[in-house]
Amino acid sequence: MTQSTNNEHTDKAGFETRAIHAGFEPDEMTGAVIPPIYATSTYKQDGVGGMRGGYEYSRSANPTRTALEGALAAVEQGERGFAFASGLAAEDTLIRSLTGPGDHAVIPDDAYGGTFRLFDKVAKVWGLDHTPAAVSDVEAMQAAIVPGRTKLVWVETPTNPMLTIGDIEALAAVAHDAGALLVVDNTFASPYLQQPLVLGADVVVHSTTKYVGGHSDVVGGALVVRDLEIADKIAFHQNSMGAVAGPFDAFLTHRGLKTLGVRMDRHCDNAEKVVEFLTGHAKVAEVIYPGLASHAGHEIAARQMKRFGGIVSFRVTGGEQHALDVCARAEVFTLGESLGGVESLIEHPGRMTHASVAGTDLEVPADLIRLSVGIETIEDLLADLDRALA
Ligand SMILES: *Cc1c(COP(=O)(O)O)cnc(C)c1O
Repeated sequence: MTQSTNNEHTDKAGFETRAIHAGFEPDEMTGAVIPPIYATSTYKQDGVGGMRGGYEYSRSANPTRTALEGALAAVEQGERGFAFASGLAAEDTLIRSLTGPGDHAVIPDDAYGGTFRLFDKVAKVWGLDHTPAAVSDVEAMQAAIVPGRTKLVWVETPTNPMLTIGDIEALAAVAHDAGALLVVDNTFASPYLQQPLVLGADVVVHSTTKYVGGHSDVVGGALVVRDLEIADKIAFHQNSMGAVAGPFDAFLTHRGLKTLGVRMDRHCDNAEKVVEFLTGHAKVAEVIYPGLASHAGHEIAARQMKRFGGIVSFRVTGGEQHALDVCARAEVFTLGESLGGVESLIEHPGRMTHASVAGTDLEVPADLIRLSVGIETIEDLLADLDRALA
């Protein structure tokens, strides 16, 4: 059941090999190459306490989940991975594993809305307070640290929907100087494009609902760590709090993970062509993509990411109404929240994903559109945008 042993043969292999093989050896009895969906809550013991492979009860461990957790650890180059019922369940478990009442966290001033709500409306009531700061500004993140009380410096990079970039190596140094841990929400980049643990982060968070699952058919979350003491705390809380991924969800997520590399390359290919198309378009005022040399975080992104990802944000020339019209007219780009699936999505952050931050410092421009560029035929995506913008 120990995941690092499962990954013995794949520890030094390339990304795709790890994504496909780590975490599971073909089943002893049948030779099945894919981890079965172990739809079982409990396990027969060979005499009291005589557990087979450590399996006792499926909240504590389930082989379908163990396989996914081993693979997640391998693709992030961590020691242990943990799979949860959702990204927010992973975050909640992490917060309660590593902080307590009276502690403090630094969080992105443009954090994913659900993450902000978890800190602001749930963790705060429990006694953990937080200070938002810009992830692109290392000094501001450092200044937000409360010496002795800050336990977590929490960043996303790229952020949503403005695709701001944080320098993971520099932020790790700042957090560690203050005796805090660096947590990186790696959902937008995916482990294929960026591996924060290698750059000094202590914990990686994922909403596996997005690129890791990749097919918009399952909600899930993950944590990956290098340090075994941190891993033990998370393992204890994962079992104590119980927000685990069920075997069916773990199976789907693991199935998605195996093709992450090829999907991400196509997401990036298509996003680059969309950026090129939008950059020259008369109805587009500004294109926001970390791959553009004009993007403030471009150099850091180029250093810490393999490519620049599948999310593209842009502002239109005609104000909010024009942005809403474009969203309404798009056909191949489906109007919807979420991101990271094979299908292209379009959304208006101001009225949709970021409606709750209207009127605050986190408000996003009203003429902003966010695209999750999928892996459809690129000519169809460009024709759709051309029609929608006309
Ligand atoms: C979606 C998302 C989450 C939350 O994950 P759920 O699976 O929806 O609970 C956290 N962080 C980021 C960056 C996300 O996009």
